[in-house]
Amino acid sequence: MTGNDCFDVVVVGGGPAGATAAADLARAGRHVLLLDKAGRIKPCGGAIPPKLITDFAIPDSLLVAKVRSARIVSPSAREASMPVTEGGFVGMVDREHFDEWLRNRAALLGAERRAGTFERVERDEDGTTRVLYHPKGAPPDAPLEAVRTRAVIGADGANSAVARQCIPGAEQKRLVFAYHEIVRSPKDAPRAQFDGERADVYYRGSLSPDFYAWIFPHGETTSVGTGSAHKGFSLKGAVRELREIAGLDRVETIRREGAPIPLKPLKRWDDGQNILLAGDAAGVVAPASGEGIYYAMLGGRFAAEAVNEFLATGKAAALAQARRRFMRLHGPVFWILGIMQDYWYGNDARRERFVSICRDPDVQYLTWDAYMNKELVKARPLAHVRIFFKNLAHLTGIVPAWSRARTA
Ligand SMILES: Cc1cc2nc3c(=O)[nH]c(=O)nc-3n(C[C@H](O)[C@H](O)[C@H](O)COP(=O)(O)OP(=O)(O)OC[C@H]3O[C@@H](n4cnc5c(N)ncnc54)[C@H](O)[C@@H]3O)c2cc1C
Repeated sequence: MTGNDCFDVVVVGGGPAGATAAADLARAGRHVLLLDKAGRIKPCGGAIPPKLITDFAIPDSLLVAKVRSARIVSPSAREASMPVTEGGFVGMVDREHFDEWLRNRAALLGAERRAGTFERVERDEDGTTRVLYHPKGAPPDAPLEAVRTRAVIGADGANSAVARQCIPGAEQKRLVFAYHEIVRSPKDAPRAQFDGERADVYYRGSLSPDFYAWIFPHGETTSVGTGSAHKGFSLKGAVRELREIAGLDRVETIRREGAPIPLKPLKRWDDGQNILLAGDAAGVVAPASGEGIYYAMLGGRFAAEAVNEFLATGKAAALAQARRRFMRLHGPVFWILGIMQDYWYGNDARRERFVSICRDPDVQYLTWDAYMNKELVKARPLAHVRIFFKNLAHLTGIVPAWSRARTA
């Protein structure tokens, strides 16, 4: 083991969560090390809401496309068109450039960047915490590098080694697997088939038995993917089928890649001493949509604030604030989305009805508003009431057949 550098905080993982935490802590004047494996592009659809762009000051130049509507497709190929309300858009980013830009911003604010793989945390008898890592490019049997630190943020993704080693209960984390293919966007396809400003979302058991499949345009390229928690379900077979359905089976394939997505926030994010998790490592991805980038960045920000307070006061109880604040804001929405996913994604008959209610203007308004602004809309209380009764009618099956036929 070599090295004797000393930091206030070591942030493990330079994705959206870790890079945000490192930037905020460096901005607050802390001595930060941002340690990232480096060398792999995170597999991701790259859809981000405007609130992320505003709250985390993302420049327009990082958006490779702006999506202005969604086309929701049912098992029987019926469609619901959902234009983004009030002329808004969903931003599309390429993670290769987005993540690097975030890491670079953290460095410009004063964080030190190192490329290497986290191995373990050790605590000396005098209470000193050391983070040990394998530097990138060093031979496999090279001695590990070590740095001393007062606190650690584990933002090393869904398979977090920091969580596994240091946080009680984290080994029980449940994961789903998502897979996508990055393809060359077709140039002359008719708009009914492909539209560079439209996200296509397919609800169909053969494409995913418990989630959805997607086509997300990214300018020159497009992400075609699906996800499922069902072991044995062929994600590659499903993407092949989707590419055929959408007429994207003959365009060039640039990359094929997959990664796990956590299903549920962990019950504990800190170890009660000086280690705290953020982002996928803490299990925060929205059920039903699989959206994780915004929640990772917010988790990174809350982790930075909690660690900053811990460093200022020496009170480890400050670390638990990160989870408390996050769950107070987003716990109820995660809970509702979890119930929706369990019910509506359960079989093709329910998916068919789900797509039909997506045509409802109230549903469209509330869906986009909740996605864009990350809070339940208070401006239109009557819309909530109408949705509540419509949802209830569909869930209980008492919605009249004629009404279903009318919206189908
Ligand atoms: C196929 C797919 C599509 C998705 N589409 C979307 C989408 O369209 N919109 C959306 O909002 N979310 C989407 N998500 C979810 C989103 O990608 C994640 O929620 C988000 O990336 C989480 O950010 P993070 O910083 O917590 O973790 P990650 O982005 O996973 O970053 C973790 C970082 O830790 C580093 N690391 C890992 N292990 C170590 C180690 N031992 N030592 C050092 N560094 C390490 C990695 O190099 C990486 O940089 C998708 C996920 C998948 C798999």
